[in-house]
Amino acid sequence: MVKQTIQIFARVKPTVRKQQQGIYSIDEDEKLTPSLEIILPRDLADGFVNNKRESYKFKFQKIFDQGANQETIFENIAKPVAESVLAGYNGTIFAYGQTGSGKTFTITGGAERYSDRGIIPRTLSYIFEQLQKDSSTIHTTHISYLEIYNECGYDLLDPRHEASSLEDLPKVTILEDPDQNIHLKNLSLHQAATEEEALNLLFLGDTNRMIAETPMNQASTRSHCIFTIHLSSKEPGSATVRHAKLHLVDLAGSERVAKTGVGGQLLTEAKYINLSLHYLEQVIIALSEKHRAHIPYRNSMMTSVLRDSLGGNCMTTMIATLSLEKRNIDESISTCRFAQRVALIKNEAVLNEEIDPRLMIIRLQKEIQELKDELAVVTGEQRTEALTDAELLQLEKLITSFLEDQDPESRLDVGTDMRKIHHCFHHLKKLLNDKKIHGKSTVSSEIKDQDCQEPLKEEEYQKLRDILQQRDNEINILVNMLKKEKKKAQDALHLSSMGRSEWRHSQSSPLPPGNSEGVRTLPSSATTQVQDVSTVEHRSSLLHRKTGMREEMSLGRQEAFEIFKRDHADSITIEDNKQILKQRFSEAKALGESINETRSKIGRLKEEITQRHMQQVALGLSENTALPSMPDSLEEKLRSQLEEEKRRYKIMFMRLKALKVEIEHLQLLMDKAKVKLQKEFEAWWTEEATNLQVNSPATNSLNHMRPFPQTPESQQERSQLVSNRSDVNTRKILPSPHPIPQSWGHNSTSASLESSISERPASSIPLTGDSQTDSDILAFIKARQSILQKKCFQ
Ligand code: ADP
Ligand code: MG
Repeated sequence: MVKQTIQIFARVKPTVRKQQQGIYSIDEDEKLTPSLEIILPRDLADGFVNNKRESYKFKFQKIFDQGANQETIFENIAKPVAESVLAGYNGTIFAYGQTGSGKTFTITGGAERYSDRGIIPRTLSYIFEQLQKDSSTIHTTHISYLEIYNECGYDLLDPRHEASSLEDLPKVTILEDPDQNIHLKNLSLHQAATEEEALNLLFLGDTNRMIAETPMNQASTRSHCIFTIHLSSKEPGSATVRHAKLHLVDLAGSERVAKTGVGGQLLTEAKYINLSLHYLEQVIIALSEKHRAHIPYRNSMMTSVLRDSLGGNCMTTMIATLSLEKRNIDESISTCRFAQRVALIKNEAVLNEEIDPRLMIIRLQKEIQELKDELAVVTGEQRTEALTDAELLQLEKLITSFLEDQDPESRLDVGTDMRKIHHCFHHLKKLLNDKKIHGKSTVSSEIKDQDCQEPLKEEEYQKLRDILQQRDNEINILVNMLKKEKKKAQDALHLSSMGRSEWRHSQSSPLPPGNSEGVRTLPSSATTQVQDVSTVEHRSSLLHRKTGMREEMSLGRQEAFEIFKRDHADSITIEDNKQILKQRFSEAKALGESINETRSKIGRLKEEITQRHMQQVALGLSENTALPSMPDSLEEKLRSQLEEEKRRYKIMFMRLKALKVEIEHLQLLMDKAKVKLQKEFEAWWTEEATNLQVNSPATNSLNHMRPFPQTPESQQERSQLVSNRSDVNTRKILPSPHPIPQSWGHNSTSASLESSISERPASSIPLTGDSQTDSDILAFIKARQSILQKKCFQ
């Protein structure tokens, strides 16, 4: 059992504005624990209340300042937890902080760069790498992904997500067994045999979450997400199975106090806090107080699910994410205060071992059989018939060789048959009596003495024995040589087959770089290839269905989407990632070629070595001499070349493996960005179409249109605003009434249409009478107008 308090870490998000510096300082010189001091700016500290403190100091296990990268966070925070999970203990890492402070960035990662991947992908990578190294244990890994929103649990990996809206999916509910263990009904567990499969599940869940969110309801700031890795391991042949769970938790935004701006009251009334975070706080207060008998876990779903992580059987770590800007000071102080209370909670993690009943049955059956045998020996039952002559002869031979064996460890093993055991004793007794008669002490000396009666024969016998010994030695040497050669041949075969399969990957892998649809992964084996194809198909089908994409779309709409996409801030990221992907693909291809070359070279070198060896042996035989004791210099040279090539091969192989993971990650990032873009286009389009129906097209003014696309900053500001509204608590799947383009990167050929339309006033466009097509055309015209207007102002 490991007793440990919850570990708390702080991470400060990089600030955009330089003048924000100086509102906090980190003191790492202190011997015990580093501390974070938040300094109130003078205009806030000198406000109305005179006795206001000027600074607040909080201790943390470690504090990561703005410059800390994702790798550092993983190494310091997540890796130790992943290690204890691999050892069989439960682990939890949760991020707590206000909206926009970097919880999702820390737990899942940034949406743009591969280097920005967060704790979940890095932990998956680490765990699978460690599992692969440990071949002495049998492992299985499962993934689940739960979202808790308004006290309702949603399975983010439910395959029905695609077909039905969130409200129609069965809710995840909590069941408690008589031992007060929590079970989650309707939460699916998905087996993930590789890092790639696990990563696909993460992105699938994230995409499902994103799709279910509407602009008016930024659920991601109000919901909690729990990504869980379930690990089981077992020694071969053992009935004991170890289970460990790792929860990686992205909590809802913790904002609670009114933003009052400069000079207002600070840290006063709590205007709003997410209800389940409120219950989490209650649980934490109860746990941090001594002698509290009742801990109110049952008050909310989140505290019930994380029950073990809080004061139970788990190694838990909290990351307090801070956005230390002037306007966020109150929230930051409140986050740090929460962390200080969390640090008081003691957990007791135990190894979760249990007996697998199936394996136990097999073991018990074996034991029963052994006991039956033993019983038969004791009672002498079962075997009534006498031993046959052949069996008796066999037994006597066994006894003779046992007596002759010089090895003191040798055993006379005749099994559990009582008759045989009795016969052995009889026979030994007889031999002993015979010896007594001859006055000799041992059977072997008896034989010797008998032989001594004929000394001539003994000499001859000795000579023959020597020759025999010599031949034996020769045979042994030859057998050893043969074994070595055979092993080398097998190694070569293995290595070449590995190379071949890896080469196949790079050959078969991508469509032309940059083409984002279709099968694009670099599979690690034939079976995973099949899985990859299905996952990618699954992903792209999700992309289509989720965004309401259908085969066809009107030209106007298509055109508008092309422009929307081109002007959207995310398109730069997508383009950048496309370029990086292109580079990675060509690097992978070049590596594949080099690996192939090295593999052939290794094959050739092995062939040469074998031939050289054969020549040497043949030479030795023909000249009737023993193998030369001096090493053959040519062979030595070939061998060192072979070693060098093998080393090169290994390095390239590892690089190709890493590239494969990176490519997969980048593709998933791009898919996600595309879904987001399409979703935003849909929302914008629907809004425009609605506005058009309300206002007549001819008299319609452009005033009500908001420019698109939004910049990330404005989205963030808006999400913060929305998150502070307590009246927004319903959640809807975005309606997708219109089809949008099937393939990304498809370049519309309607340039002429664009120019012809932009030259004419909107009212002069002949309408078709079909309301769907008409609203498409009108929305497009408005899109064009809005873009033109935007360009005019630039
Ligand atoms: P939260 O999940 O707490 O609401 P996010 O993780 O979404 O916050 O972060 C808000 C924004 O800040 C995102 O655009 C994210 O990429 C960025 N961000 C957060 N932390 C960092 C960091 N350490 N380095 C760079 N960008 C960050
Ligand atoms: Mg978030």
